Amino acid sequence: MLKNNTTKSLAVTGMHCASCANIITRKLQKIPGVASAEVNYGAEKAYVSFDEGAVSIADMNAQVQQLGYALEDTSIHTGHDMSAGFSSDELQQKKKVEELNKLREHVLIVLPFVAVSIFVMAWEVGAEQLAFVPMMPVAVADFFHHLLPLLAAYSLFVIGLPFLQGVVRFLKHGVANMDTLIGIGTLVAFLYSFIVSAFESSLSPYISTEHSYYDVTIVVIGFITLGKYLEARSKQKTGEAIKKLLGLQAKQATVLRDGKEIEVAIEEVVVGDILIIKPGQKIPTDGEIISGTSAIDESMITGESLPVDKRVGDTVIGATINKQGSLQVRATQVGSGTVLAQIVTMVEQAQGSKAPIERLADQISAVFVPVVLVFAVGVLAIWLAVGSQFMPFSQALPLGLVSFVGILVIACPCAMGLATPMAVIVGVGKAAQNGILIKNAENLEKLQAVNFIVLDKTGTITRGEPQVTDILSASDVTDKEVLGILASLEQHSEHPLAQAVVGRAKLDGMELKKATEFSALEGKGLRGIILGRQYFAGNLRLAADLHIKVDTTITEQFAEEGKTPVILMREQQVLGYVAIADTIKAEAPATIARLHELGMQVALLTGDAKKTAEYIAKQVGIDRVIAEVLPGDKAEQIKLLQSEGYRVAMVGDGINDAPALVTADVGIAMGTGTDVAIESAGVTLLGGKIDKLPKVIRLARATMRTVKQNLFWAFFYNVVGIPIAAGVLYPTFGILLNPAIAGAAMAFSSVSVVLNALRLKRANL
Ligand code: ADP
Ligand code: MG
Repeated sequence: MLKNNTTKSLAVTGMHCASCANIITRKLQKIPGVASAEVNYGAEKAYVSFDEGAVSIADMNAQVQQLGYALEDTSIHTGHDMSAGFSSDELQQKKKVEELNKLREHVLIVLPFVAVSIFVMAWEVGAEQLAFVPMMPVAVADFFHHLLPLLAAYSLFVIGLPFLQGVVRFLKHGVANMDTLIGIGTLVAFLYSFIVSAFESSLSPYISTEHSYYDVTIVVIGFITLGKYLEARSKQKTGEAIKKLLGLQAKQATVLRDGKEIEVAIEEVVVGDILIIKPGQKIPTDGEIISGTSAIDESMITGESLPVDKRVGDTVIGATINKQGSLQVRATQVGSGTVLAQIVTMVEQAQGSKAPIERLADQISAVFVPVVLVFAVGVLAIWLAVGSQFMPFSQALPLGLVSFVGILVIACPCAMGLATPMAVIVGVGKAAQNGILIKNAENLEKLQAVNFIVLDKTGTITRGEPQVTDILSASDVTDKEVLGILASLEQHSEHPLAQAVVGRAKLDGMELKKATEFSALEGKGLRGIILGRQYFAGNLRLAADLHIKVDTTITEQFAEEGKTPVILMREQQVLGYVAIADTIKAEAPATIARLHELGMQVALLTGDAKKTAEYIAKQVGIDRVIAEVLPGDKAEQIKLLQSEGYRVAMVGDGINDAPALVTADVGIAMGTGTDVAIESAGVTLLGGKIDKLPKVIRLARATMRTVKQNLFWAFFYNVVGIPIAAGVLYPTFGILLNPAIAGAAMAFSSVSVVLNALRLKRANL
């Protein structure tokens, strides 16, 4: 049954760890009316697809709130205008800053406690086990003996409240997350210590009351809280790209109303307003120039440093800077419809999306927590059952508890949940700052594996602004007539070749006739009727279809010079030949060389004549040419390459090449100006230059390398830590993981994962 599902991106608050995301996802998926739900811990977003008739966001929020989290629909605010979208972002930003401040306060309180605990621990170890410091004086020992329980109680019940809430949630709803693990671990350490010290005299015959584990409670909570604080602080930095993009938006605009220039806030600009933009000023919103010329710095959007010349009729993008002349611009888009707003939305969505590699980590961390809980209980049982055969029960119990707590603490899959999203957020953000829009994390992951790049010719390798270079007429017509008839036909076509012909005719001051029954012949040319006579114009394939004899020496000659021959025909007869040439983009040869350096195979794909394509390929250093391909067959060619085992990226213009872009492993579109998110493409290169191609490949590789490093380290801590905590080294070496060290290691592992992702920011592209 088909239902009308809406998909919404909701802000999630209250998540403390990656397993929280799993808990919320599962909860949401169980709600009737919810088709699918995905929660991203790194981006703090939930993507829910649901039937609005059956369930509301408020219902979902109510369900999720039972578990201690909250959902908020941020898309309401961004629906109409961008300014309001900004304020909701600011609100969220404010909340985050508050959370961060509270965390910092906690860190500042708990760190001195940690210092005291470590001091006492170190003194005891130094005196009792290594004997290089004298024993603690009795008065001092007594003092600490009474101080530590107080500090531990404050750490556990005030600073560690979220962890205890995790335990309560576990008892009430049966859902366990990382907070639950830390909560149970520290609570057990505290309760055991409390019982031992409270009933010291009556318990001493049965268990060793020498040791209490208040220090473990303090140090674990201290380090995990410190880790969370550092993680939250660095996380803010990973999201800076969006903040920077938002900051680009103009705040004010000068509009012409009733013949007067007035200053208004940007929110008050409406479509159709005439904006006055002086040199040096920011262009307030997207529009079309209606008077003036200027050079415009579009680097903030496209990443291109050279200003772009613009004149009447050209489109301008909001947030770019008018460098030279005074301009009058008619606003064509405001608020969420602008290029900038679309970029922000797209980057946000991409940053929140999941890479396929993450699924594995998700699956593992989903089962991790319950498995670890069961495992820890099992290990405790073994200590008690097996350990007490080798040592008195009074010793086995505390050792078993140390194991139990140590396992719970070291096994937190917190770094695992951060490993991929942190790198994706930084990678996608960095791309956006370079004028490269990546649709989602999946494309980033696939791009990294690409080893074959197929480039479309027109608009990708060449500038897509072809010019008529030669006109050769048959004996019974003039060159002027050939151009006139051809232009009259081409004025109905959208093809770049058509624009060249019409442009030339207009330049020569020709009057164009009306053509009727016009039709475009995909990949071949066109046909139409002028003054009752039928004409065809196009390539050799078209002539062959019509069984018209062509002087191939002329077409060959043109093609060898890299020009596209267009043959004009009427009633089984050639009227003339027109040669059209496009200029190669200046950066093309260097870009191809760089792609080869990256180990890529590169091919040129075009519907143009083989000779023409070969000429251009040679100019830019491409060795493989796939020419004379009908538009509908381009996708077939991509499939052919894929069947040879290549992972193919197709680079094209997104309009003609859409099927090929979709077929390729990664579709890369050349965005030229205002066309931000090209539907069929996974990656859009803004600004129309292909030198971004090697950059985005290098970025994808660097990002995935970071992801893999992160995942390695995240697993490494667990794989090494858990057995040590369980006591595998104890029988032979007498080593057992101190839970306090486990706490430090866990804090360090999540911080290192985030810092490693931040390193990406400085990667050279
Ligand atoms: P591509 O985009 O790969 O260059 P197309 O499929 O758009 O190729 O066009 C293939 C060929 O078809 C062109 O090189 C040209 O020879 C012919 N053709 C297509 N459209 C026209 C047109 N409007 N006028 C003349 N020739 C055309
Ligand atoms: Mg094309």
